[in-house]
Amino acid sequence: LNPTAILEKIDKGELISFSQKLIRTPSVSGDERDVGELVAKKLSEIGLEVDVVGGNVIGKLEGNDSKRTLAICGHLDTVAVVEPASWTVDPYSAVVKDGKLWGLGSADMKAGLTAQMMAIDAVKKSEMPLNGNVLFIATVLEEEGRMKLEQRKGVIELLDKGLIKANATVIGEPTNLLVSRGHKGICNTLLTTKGKSAHGSVPDMGINAIEKMAKVLLALKTLKLGYHPELGLGTLTPCIIQGGIKLSIVPDVCKVSIDRRLTVGENKETVQAEMERLFTDLKRDDPDLNIVGEYPYSYEAVVTSLDDPVLKSIDLACRDVTKKPANIGFIPFGTDGAWINKFAKCPILIYGPGRVTDAHRLNEYVELRQVEEASMVYATLIGHYLS
Ligand SMILES: [Zn+2]
Repeated sequence: LNPTAILEKIDKGELISFSQKLIRTPSVSGDERDVGELVAKKLSEIGLEVDVVGGNVIGKLEGNDSKRTLAICGHLDTVAVVEPASWTVDPYSAVVKDGKLWGLGSADMKAGLTAQMMAIDAVKKSEMPLNGNVLFIATVLEEEGRMKLEQRKGVIELLDKGLIKANATVIGEPTNLLVSRGHKGICNTLLTTKGKSAHGSVPDMGINAIEKMAKVLLALKTLKLGYHPELGLGTLTPCIIQGGIKLSIVPDVCKVSIDRRLTVGENKETVQAEMERLFTDLKRDDPDLNIVGEYPYSYEAVVTSLDDPVLKSIDLACRDVTKKPANIGFIPFGTDGAWINKFAKCPILIYGPGRVTDAHRLNEYVELRQVEEASMVYATLIGHYLS
């Protein structure tokens, strides 16, 4: 592979101006249509076959041999503006200052999405023969916190329809240019203790659901969570607690929402079983304890093997671009990749410009140097994987 032939075709001006265009077009989850149209138009200009399915945009670049497909994936939506009054720049201005591109969705992940598209553009313009296909996927409703109950993640709709078939998928979420082999899973856990209300002056006549929950919360600290030598320990973080109505009433209900992150070997069933065991133990000492657990949303951890060809290809790509081997590791947050891995049986890696710690907060930005480097790595990755 001649990486220079591809790299010199990357349109660095368009890399910035198209990222700006995407940032200036609001696309809070559920309102991705305008940004989706821009992306679809851009893909057509690049020369891809474009399809829009449930708001998700799919682009295909066919190679000489369709045995191998590399999927390149990102999301179109953003979270809502966090602390709008505190931003020092307009979240939709997309200003460039100090070598950084500022605005909502700059790091998460409109610059990354643009870097992916301009990489495909460069590969196409270089006219290198492709021994396989490139499948570009831009999804809606990735930022699950904004999802309404009746909505489904865009990626799940595509997987249900069998539209994501690939030998590997590269997700462009902000990893600060770390090549991530995967991440932990999630099992959102909702605990409810039920008691008995009574007048606050005679608490012994009731059962205090908050006090019962306090017992449970302390006991949760004694759980031995799963461990994996590479991904580390599972975690369990109570994030929301609700209970009680007013003073002078013994509370009869208390609810806690737990952010439970899963390491390899843990899943919804193991979490449920560990909770049930804990409840049984606690009830032995306290027959008045009435507790139920619900597990409304979960996906498992994902780890891609170091031997997978896509990791070899991105290592070569990093060497081409930075003269150094790929920096390989894991990210702490979850991505659409977990679903693609599970339902399309497809190895994934996550690599993109920007830091996740700068996303979902005020004054979001991405360093332009990283956007350029990511685009170059995507381009040579496609070259190596499909050469
Ligand atoms: Zn994201």
